Amino acid sequence: MGLFAKKELCPVCGGEVKGLFLTKIGDKKTLCKNCSKQISMNKGLLKTATPEFIQEHLDDRKKNAEKYSALRWDVLYTDVPGLKVGVDPVAGFFYLVHDDLHDNDNPLVFSFEQLTGYELYRSTKKVDDADTPGATALESALSALSGMANIIKNDNEMKYDYFKLKLTISDPYWPQLEIKIDFDLDKLYGRNGYIAFDRQLNTICQMFKHIIRKEPVNYY
Ligand SMILES: [Zn+2]
Repeated sequence: MGLFAKKELCPVCGGEVKGLFLTKIGDKKTLCKNCSKQISMNKGLLKTATPEFIQEHLDDRKKNAEKYSALRWDVLYTDVPGLKVGVDPVAGFFYLVHDDLHDNDNPLVFSFEQLTGYELYRSTKKVDDADTPGATALESALSALSGMANIIKNDNEMKYDYFKLKLTISDPYWPQLEIKIDFDLDKLYGRNGYIAFDRQLNTICQMFKHIIRKEPVNYY
């Protein structure tokens, strides 16, 4: 025992558990590097996950990769900081890539039918959801004038803010999905120029809303 304690084995594949940033599951078990990097699920689920649940999840991730390569991602959104969204408008699927989803190598693919809820927050304030008909109000979502006023008031201070996009999905691993979009106000409104990710964020949100409300989608 002691220094030469027997090596810990991965409860899912039996591989050797070593290295940094490994994923922990229920019962304080730790996954090997290879299994860890394929996991993409809600943190709460991970905390209580059994090895059997993880094995099913890994099979599902393989199917996800197959879906991702079989579909045609004709619509791509890449201007929103930290977020990438692709859409197959014909087959009715979308994918999301974001650091919080741990899905960079294998983007999460969902069908339009799986999407059942959408909410958009500016900091803690809800500015839009799928129950509100009509266009996502850009001015209120971005508070363009108050943002501008903040910059003028605190000229020497960097100001940061964030949007939070919440999606409800009929999916066993991501029933609730939260994406945080950090940005600095100066880049959005200020001296460093207008980056215009807000327009694309608006388009993406409008798309989710139309999908849920079964309204015709305008992708641009
Ligand atoms: Zn493993």
